[in-house]
Amino acid sequence: MTPWLIASDRDREEGRPVTQRLYYADPACVEFEAAVVSCDTIEGRPVAVLDRTAFYPTSGGQSYDVGTLGDRQVLDVIELDDERIGHVVSEPLPPGTTVRGRIDWNRRFDHMQQHTGQHILSAAFDRLHGSRTVGFHLGAVVSTLDLDKILNADSINAAEAEANRIVWENRPIRIRIASADEAASMPLRKEPTRSGPLRLIEVEGFDLSACGGTHVAHAGQVGVIALRSWEKFRGGMRLEFVCGTRTLREFRVLRDAVAGSLRLLSVDPRELPSAIERAQGENKELRRTIRDQQARLAGHDAAAMVARAHQVGDTLVLIDAVDGWDQTGLKSLAAAAASRPGVVAALLSTTDPALVVIARAPDVGIDAAVVLKALLARFGGKGGGKAELAQGGGLAGLRAEMLAELRELIEPSLRRAP
Ligand SMILES: [Zn+2]
Repeated sequence: MTPWLIASDRDREEGRPVTQRLYYADPACVEFEAAVVSCDTIEGRPVAVLDRTAFYPTSGGQSYDVGTLGDRQVLDVIELDDERIGHVVSEPLPPGTTVRGRIDWNRRFDHMQQHTGQHILSAAFDRLHGSRTVGFHLGAVVSTLDLDKILNADSINAAEAEANRIVWENRPIRIRIASADEAASMPLRKEPTRSGPLRLIEVEGFDLSACGGTHVAHAGQVGVIALRSWEKFRGGMRLEFVCGTRTLREFRVLRDAVAGSLRLLSVDPRELPSAIERAQGENKELRRTIRDQQARLAGHDAAAMVARAHQVGDTLVLIDAVDGWDQTGLKSLAAAAASRPGVVAALLSTTDPALVVIARAPDVGIDAAVVLKALLARFGGKGGGKAELAQGGGLAGLRAEMLAELRELIEPSLRRAP
């Protein structure tokens, strides 16, 4: 597609259907009348072609307009080829009839603000840093601009400030039509890639570029241009930016998020990052303390539990459900119990689904991984481990049945042992 190429008079004279693009000359046109030239089904959807339209089709990084044609909803607008614009409508329109079209102005104006902002931003980066725009996408929430150079934060901030200076000077933005020869002698920001008449967008005294999109008439209508974030991308930079009403929406989201955080942390906005860093450090410290305390408590509890364990052959067997331990704690507890010679410990949590840890002393002839595997086969869940220690989680069923199964898996082989 060549969005900035003007449909030639020759096509019209030769009778090829050509959609006159009303937005080329009048981007503020909201309502219009047009004749329905055709209405075909494309990919299962009715697509109407008109002799003229104010609906913008997706092209040049800018998204389509929505609105109505008569009592039909316009759901999408596509460039069928260089000359015809297709309107995807909710119900077919009879060819030969006249319809009244109306575009959704809020959506269009938003696109005009973002798109014009992009021109000004691209020109600012070009003029200040010799950095060319190599990509643009107007997104539903944020837009992206790709630059061909890597720039630091100061350079990026300087270009953002320069772009906003142009916005606040409220410079006129004009649409000019030029032949390829005329355009060749003009200071275009980007070389046009095709011959033929060109539609040029001029930001007075600042930028001139070929474009088929829709733009505001005065730079001030862009409101404000704000860079949201940036990152290195394909040897250059990808910037995320918002303009106009989107900037206000973005500000409100950030304001509420920051205000909520400040209330929780009782700090000044500028102190927020260091306050979060401090809280993270304290959190890490507390986790370490809890881990240490758990290990000491596990040693203490394990000693008491081993004292209650029963003897099977030469082995002390501890099979029990214990309360108030997470996976790590349960593991510490079982490992502490099995740190004494001649002990095997199989501990279940009282949670649902259940956790399980099986541990044994080096001198006990039980394979904890084999016991775990058999237990999981019956009660479900996941886990793994080695012969000395295995752990699992997600077991579903009655605790008493799990304990009985563990006894059945562990005790008979100990009885048979010499
Ligand atoms: Zn444009």
